[in-house]
Amino acid sequence: MGAAKNHIGGEWVEGARNVPDLNPSNTNDVVGEFPQADAAQVEQAIAAARDAFPAWSRSSIQDRHDILKRIGDEIIARKDELGRLLSREEGKTLPEGIGETVRAGQIFQFFAGECLRLAGEKLASTRPGVEVEVTREPLGVIGLITPWNFPIAIPAWKIAPALAYGNCIVFKPAELVPATAHALSEIIVRAGLPPGVFNLVMGRGSVVGETMTRHPGITAISFTGSVPTGRRVAAACVEADPMKKVQLEMGGKNPLVVLDDADMKTAVECAVNGAFFSTGQRCTASSRLIVTAGIHDRFLEALTERTKALVVDDALKPGTQIGPVVDENQLEQDLRYVQIGKDEGARLVTGGERLNRETPGFYMAPAILADADNRMRIAREEIFGPVATVIRATDYDEALDIANDTPFGLSAGICTTSLKYASHFRRNSEAGMVMVNLPTAGVDYHVPFGGRKGSSYGPREQGRYAAEFYTTVKTAYTFDMNGPYVPRTRSSE
Ligand code: ADP
Repeated sequence: MGAAKNHIGGEWVEGARNVPDLNPSNTNDVVGEFPQADAAQVEQAIAAARDAFPAWSRSSIQDRHDILKRIGDEIIARKDELGRLLSREEGKTLPEGIGETVRAGQIFQFFAGECLRLAGEKLASTRPGVEVEVTREPLGVIGLITPWNFPIAIPAWKIAPALAYGNCIVFKPAELVPATAHALSEIIVRAGLPPGVFNLVMGRGSVVGETMTRHPGITAISFTGSVPTGRRVAAACVEADPMKKVQLEMGGKNPLVVLDDADMKTAVECAVNGAFFSTGQRCTASSRLIVTAGIHDRFLEALTERTKALVVDDALKPGTQIGPVVDENQLEQDLRYVQIGKDEGARLVTGGERLNRETPGFYMAPAILADADNRMRIAREEIFGPVATVIRATDYDEALDIANDTPFGLSAGICTTSLKYASHFRRNSEAGMVMVNLPTAGVDYHVPFGGRKGSSYGPREQGRYAAEFYTTVKTAYTFDMNGPYVPRTRSSE
């Protein structure tokens, strides 16, 4: 493809400069050239979105439904092509790329339906003759800032509800995945939105993202990314005048507890999937495997054997199970954490080194660090790569304490055949999402997504709970001068 463009006020426009987008499976493969917006372009996008808001916020729910349905249908119809582009750009395997693409389409279809289901409430007042009505209204212009690890699903789960509830959008994708963002934006723009409702501004976080978080024309920011950037975004939103509504989805250090009575096959599959699929680059990844004493050695052996057999190769190659790490910086960080773990006294059981394949890329052997202590950095800090930390616990009670002893609280899992422990864990886990005999990663799209503690801030995403962030509530009181309705009775006739 030639140099791509940003989309501002209904026009495709050149950026201030272009940068190349590289395939992490083969750095000789340039996916495309993508524009970098400057602050002036971001301001134009915000102005266009503000101009479009009055009409779009009053648009018919049938029109919104039809547009979102068209977007979802086209994404799913083109799943193979879009999934391939995603995998080529981000490095997850082709089945993972296609799966994520289908998910994005399903999210648009779900929110097409939500357009028709937006409901308010009518209540009696405490005062005679007064009626109370609670309704949801759009917020205005919403800034969407997304990370690279789910290049189509995360934008979808922010863009779809923003549009469904009548908001205009300025969308800033991550620097590493502009091609998927561009392809998605082309589909969105073609679906029939009035100019200015949806704007795409690709570029750097420190320029495009900062301008969005500080600009008074943006009413709210939904962000997914790292904890330090999330903090900056939240601080900028509060310092802005007027203050912005803000929603942050950040990191995780998700525990997967494996109890003595676990089904071994299920436990190993949950651990391998949760820790290493998508190259471990998921905020819901199972990065702490907390294993009780009676099963620990057998589980570690089975897990190690399964991990050694994983095929790490070019994301687009048939048979690849683990694609490359997204870029050189991330790979260096992953390798650094393996070294930190060894220095802290953990035992590297397998993997943890850079691999060479036919093409130059960022390949890494999935690493298992055993005999870890929950106080170690490898047990407390998010690594965001194919690195699993195994921690031994004496029994269920200690495993639960370790699982909850973390600054994060996104997802938590347990593998057990005991209803007693499964139920207790569901109730006592300090995470936003709990999985029983399932990996910590892998969620549905029609129910809330989000966490507690340092993982999330603000209302949940996805499902009908998305309305909490993408709308503002109005409470209207009406005094009816005709007085209340009094039913006629037979005796008065
Ligand atoms: P990651 O690179 O791991 O996805 P980051 O938190 O660095 O996590 O980035 C997430 C998103 O936030 C990206 O789109 C990035 O460009 C953007 N971003 C980075 N710095 C800022 C900032 N200061 N203000 C707003 N957005 C930013």
